[in-house]
Formats: sequence, structure tokens, C-alpha cells
Amino acid sequence: MAYAYDDQNIFAKILRGEIPNKTVLETEHTLAFEDIRPQAPVHVLVIPKGPYVTYDHFAETASDAEIVDFNRAVAAICRQMDVTADVGEGARFISNAGEHGVQEVPHFHLHILGGRWMGRMVAKAE
Ligand code: 5GP
Repeated sequence: MAYAYDDQNIFAKILRGEIPNKTVLETEHTLAFEDIRPQAPVHVLVIPKGPYVTYDHFAETASDAEIVDFNRAVAAICRQMDVTADVGEGARFISNAGEHGVQEVPHFHLHILGGRWMGRMVAKAE
């Protein structure tokens, strides 16, 4: 089965400029912006500009240029937001995928959460 990308998802609309966003960083293949419902003092969403549904979809099918660009953007954002674990106090990186991952928006995104103690990684599901 192949992934089917829904171009009406909210992040596709953000990429087309149909919905505003608070941009943190933009590169050739990547956009990063503040989460509308922040769960921490730093809560940035990093998305590729290409039509990828999940992290594994992106990692499997994106070009090397897109993958490098995305990862370098993540590093630059961590520096920009002062959440690296060397000079800063670290961060949590999360990417939810599909039903079991409880993914709300079906366009691959990496959450960067920081600025507070993030607690244990996974709470027991209700
Ligand atoms: P998911 O559960 O898919 O991993 O997370 C989706 C995230 O997108 C949520 O944290 C939610 O707050 C965020 N979000 C949903 N709609 C919008 C929007 O229109 N703008 C922004 N900036 N974030 C959004």
C-alpha cells in the first residue's frame, strides 16, 4: 500500500499561504512555525514542503537534498530557540504517525518541545 497525501490538510494550506503562520525558519525544502496550541514555552513544528504524510514516508521517499535540508533546519532551529543540550537544556522531538501514533494533521511534522522539563517520554494510554 502506498501513502495517499491529502492536499487539503491544514499544513498544506499553510504551505500555500492560505492560512497564516508564525514562521521560525524557512529554507528551500523546509518550513518551521510555532504550534497554535503550544505545550511548552518552545513548541515549534518543522515540516517538509513536499507532500509527505509521516516521518517514515518522508524518510523512505524524499530526496537526499530534502532530508539533509530538513535535518539541518532542525539543528538551526534548536540553536535559534536555545534548546540544544550543550549550551541550552535540551528538548523533546516528537513525530506522531497514523492512528496508533495519534496524528492529527496528515502532513509529516516534527514537534520540537523545550523550555521546560518534559517529563517521561510516554504516558500510559487511557
Ligand atoms: P499531531 O497530533 O498531528 O502530531 O500535531 C498537530 C499539531 O498541529 C498540534 O500540536 C496542533 O496544535 C497543531 N496545529 C493544528 N492546526 C494548526 C494551525 O492551523 N496552525 C498551527 N500553527 N498549528 C496547528
